[in-house]
Order: sequence, then structure tokens, then C-alpha cells
Amino acid sequence: MIISVASGKGGTGKTTVAVNLALSLKNIQFLDCDVEEPNAHIFLKPLIKEKTEAYIPVPEIDEAKCAHCGRCQEVCAYHAIAVLPGNNGQKGSVLVFPHLCHGCGACSLLCPQTAIKEANRDTGVIEIGERNNMQFVHGRLNVGEAMSPPLVRQLKKYINPTRTVIIDAPPGTSCPVITAVKGSDFCLLVTEPTPFGLNDLILAVEVLRKLKIPFGVVINRSDIGDGKVEEYCKQENMPILMKIPFSREIAVSYSEGMPIIKKDASYQDKFINLYLNIRAIKSEANSRY
Ligand code: SF4
Ligand code: SF4
Repeated sequence: MIISVASGKGGTGKTTVAVNLALSLKNIQFLDCDVEEPNAHIFLKPLIKEKTEAYIPVPEIDEAKCAHCGRCQEVCAYHAIAVLPGNNGQKGSVLVFPHLCHGCGACSLLCPQTAIKEANRDTGVIEIGERNNMQFVHGRLNVGEAMSPPLVRQLKKYINPTRTVIIDAPPGTSCPVITAVKGSDFCLLVTEPTPFGLNDLILAVEVLRKLKIPFGVVINRSDIGDGKVEEYCKQENMPILMKIPFSREIAVSYSEGMPIIKKDASYQDKFINLYLNIRAIKSEANSRY
């Protein structure tokens, strides 16, 4: 079972929920797909055993073969290639914008002159490790690199279907999040009871409904703010699977890189219950189809 943990905005406690859920269960693989700012390792403290380069295959044009037909520019959905046709006997040229390229391979596949080959552009690193019996994988995007979905996709190739997989997704509702949560059996949406929390929860719910991924809500710092998030969940018939009240102790242990369950052991049962509820919702959803 693949459970992704997402939130419409950063700072809601998404990683806290993902990490504590993982530490409360057995036979887990943890994937930190928040590649712009991975921080689950601070709490899980895995022993990294393997590092591998992450890359995007970007086109390289063989100008000697190129007929400047414009086909590559036409097929590139990301405007990463521009073809300048020849003029008045001047040879044309092809410009590639590597930082816009998603490495989809369409241009090289469809070039009628086979004038495009691919070269790997380094975008970051993937680190693989373990802690006790938990498998751990995370990615680190290079500083200044804008293209995180290819790295997230590359990370997800490490998914081990024999384990319960917990994915810590990037915050927000854009491409990197969609790439991270796509294919999950269930998604936990972590939010907080504030107007910003509600606004971003509504956006995240829209995304998950489009992707047809069953989901439930965790409200962090549930005793501060207002009751609008709960009202919204009720009105939309969305299960609130857990509430974590604000606690100075939890905040301090977070700042020290210590998971909640290490500070307050009663939380382990709460996270196990959270998992059991997820399984129940998932099997109910399965029985409907
Ligand atoms: S599709 Fe091939 S031949 Fe046509 S412009 Fe692009 S690189 Fe040149
Ligand atoms: S590989 Fe895909 S995204 Fe990159 S330039 Fe070619 S068509 Fe565009």
C-alpha cells in the first residue's frame, strides 16, 4: 500500500505526520519526495548506504544532420526548443533551453533526420539508506534547479511494493506534488485550522479528486485557529482521521529533530489507529468498484 502525505502549503506538519506514521508501523519504506527541501532524514536518521546521480536526458542537436524542419519545436510541449529557419542562404539553427526541458524524449524520437541525441543533465542526487528495518530513499535537487518532477519520478522508481510505502510529498498543489502523489492508494492531507490552511486544503482536495485518490485529513495544531476547516470537512463529507493539538513539548522536540512518538509514547497508538483507519477507508473504496 502506498500512502502519500501532502499539504496544500508548507509548515503544516506534513513531515511530522509522515515520519511518526512510519516509525509507528513495521515493514515500511519511506520516500522523501520533498526534493527541494528534504528534511525527513533529520527525524529518521537513516544510515545512507548508496548515492546515485539524478539526471534529465536533454537533446543535443547535430547541426550537420539537421534540416531545420521545425518538427522538434512543434512537438515540445514545454517550449524547450526553438528552431530558427535559414534565411537568404544563411544556415538556420536550433536553440535548446535545457532548464525548460522535461526529458520526455519526444523531440529525439520524432526528428525525421535523427539529428537529436540525448545527453544527461545533472539535476540532483538520490540517497538510499535504512534505519533499523525501515528502507529510506530521498532526493536532493541541485540548488537553483527548477525542474523537480523528473527527480521525483526517478525517486519513485525505488518504490518497493512488498512494503507499506510512505511518501512525504512536496507542499503545494503544483506539478511536483501531483508527480509525488500520483499512483498512491491513499493520501493524507495535513492542514491547520486557519484561513490559509483552509484555502490550501480546498485546492489540495480538488487535485486529489481529479486524480481519484482516496484521502483523509489530519488537522495539526487543532486547538488553535477557528472551526472552519472542520466545517468544510463535514460539509464535503471528508473524514478527519487525526487531530494533533498544539503542544509546546511537541514544538520543542520538533526543533530538536525528535519524532513525537519518542517524546510522548501514547502517540504511537494514535498513529497505528490512523493507519488502521486508512486501510478501512481504502478497502471500503475498493469494494465500491
Ligand atoms: S526535428 Fe530534427 S531536423 Fe527538424 S529542426 Fe529539429 S533537430 Fe532539426
Ligand atoms: S525532451 Fe521533451 S521536453 Fe525536452 S526538449 Fe525534447 S520534447 Fe522538449
